Amino acid sequence: MNREDLANLIFPSITKTIEDYEKEYPPRNLPENAKVTRFAPSPTGFMHIGHFMPALIDYVLAHQSKGVFYLRNEDTDQTREVEGAVEYIRTVLATYGLNPDEYEYKDLKETKGEYGPYIQSERKEIYHAFIKHLIIEGKAYPCFLTQEEMDAIREAQSKDKRRIGIYGRYAKYRDLPVEEAIKRIESGEKFTIRLKSTGDFNHKFKFNDLAFGELEFPENDIDIPIMKSSNGLPTYHFAHLVDDHLMRTTHVVRGQEWISSIPVHYELFKAFDFKMPKYIHIPLILKKDGEKIRKISKRYDPEAKMSFYEEKGYPTYAVIEAIMTIANSNYETWREGHPDAPFTDFEFSPKKMSASGALFDLDKLDNISKNYLSHLTKEQIYKEVLNWSSKYDLEFNEILKKYPDYSMAIYNIEREQKKPRKDYSYYSEIKDKTWYMYDEYFYDINYDFKEYNLEEVKKVLKTYLDNDYFNESDTQEEWFNKIKEMTTNLGYASEVKMYKEDPTKYKGSIIDITNIMRISLTTLDNTPNLYNIMLILGKDRITERFNRILN
Ligand code: GLU
Repeated sequence: MNREDLANLIFPSITKTIEDYEKEYPPRNLPENAKVTRFAPSPTGFMHIGHFMPALIDYVLAHQSKGVFYLRNEDTDQTREVEGAVEYIRTVLATYGLNPDEYEYKDLKETKGEYGPYIQSERKEIYHAFIKHLIIEGKAYPCFLTQEEMDAIREAQSKDKRRIGIYGRYAKYRDLPVEEAIKRIESGEKFTIRLKSTGDFNHKFKFNDLAFGELEFPENDIDIPIMKSSNGLPTYHFAHLVDDHLMRTTHVVRGQEWISSIPVHYELFKAFDFKMPKYIHIPLILKKDGEKIRKISKRYDPEAKMSFYEEKGYPTYAVIEAIMTIANSNYETWREGHPDAPFTDFEFSPKKMSASGALFDLDKLDNISKNYLSHLTKEQIYKEVLNWSSKYDLEFNEILKKYPDYSMAIYNIEREQKKPRKDYSYYSEIKDKTWYMYDEYFYDINYDFKEYNLEEVKKVLKTYLDNDYFNESDTQEEWFNKIKEMTTNLGYASEVKMYKEDPTKYKGSIIDITNIMRISLTTLDNTPNLYNIMLILGKDRITERFNRILN
């Protein structure tokens, strides 16, 4: 009996060979230097920024080289699978316009691309053919170590401060005679398939990562499991190798946490004599926490989850810009020179990533976003906030639908000018900053008139109403002149300068008068242009709001 018999016993129905699959999935017919990238998430439930950044870079690299960006569902660890995870990932990608060129969406019964299946659990046969090949070649073997035995090995290793894993003398079954292995399998004994490592831990090799540069590692000597018996699916390490080979991936973009797996991946590719794709490991995403700079945490930092941006209503443009800015050190300068170009025009260079980590800063995002939103038209803002609120704030959504022109007039305050107002960073903030304009929210109000006593406040408001000062057709200048007139009549200085020159002569200045009016109309002492606000509120609302305080 030989290794072929052993391989046939383990995989009796596998008849296709690696060559068959290579013919079935031939090298792609793409322009020279076109990059084939993949986003390969495990469907574990949510998407964090550490997934998003590689996906964005995958997209950029493929698009600017006329290559292919595909989505692969890495569901080999089915115990961790969360229902709906892939659908969620799909929507996030779509929201940001990062739609893959090739994919398989089971729920939609939709597939695109010639290199699938794009779901690992549907590729079992392919993996088995590759494993079978390794067994025949003597590069993989069935291992009969039980869980208890492995636990004991691990315990002993950690007690003796040795490296953890099945290697050297711990790899008890690597040289088991074929006949014996066959006998055990035939008697129903459980087994794992392990790589028969040929590496020497004391021997180092060099590996060139496109972002981190030249790295040096000790060779892998661990007989890593490539297939666990439980479901016949391979481990991530093995599956990614087969898939990236057959799907003709040219560039693997993935998180820094995978760097430590390079020795294993290097050995696996060598075992098949396959050319490795190029690797771009993405540095950690960091955040400032007080004085400290630390890794962003998917558990503790809300901004680590992509849902945070959606829920708050950040424009997708701003999120992409913020991430591109930390991905490449020269992005910001490029953007200044190309304010209207799509981000995909930027030539992304893995070398320009900072290996020490990418500092992600919400203030920076807010700035980008404020600037972006300040340049939209009132119609665009209205459309976006309507869309956002239809998912996250139905009450506000109803109000917006009821008052489209009124809402747009609010968004237009100090917008159509050379330096537009930068009020909003995200769509949920629009309600926080405009609520007082809507009667629906303007009830049960507690006014805080600060240093102004209520009698004085009432006097100001009454004078304004009694003189019928408000007129919708007044220009800003006419409006202001009336306020000035009232200011003087009430014993206040109509110019701040006058008041400062001799404060004893006046009760206060025009600032106090406009502040009193502002607080009465909005509850706030800081708002956009009061004239615009009053014009939009209109005479009836102004009268009603002043009367509330007077009565
Ligand atoms: N499934 C792996 C993950 O979600 C992918 C790593 C890779 O891109 O190779 O982290």
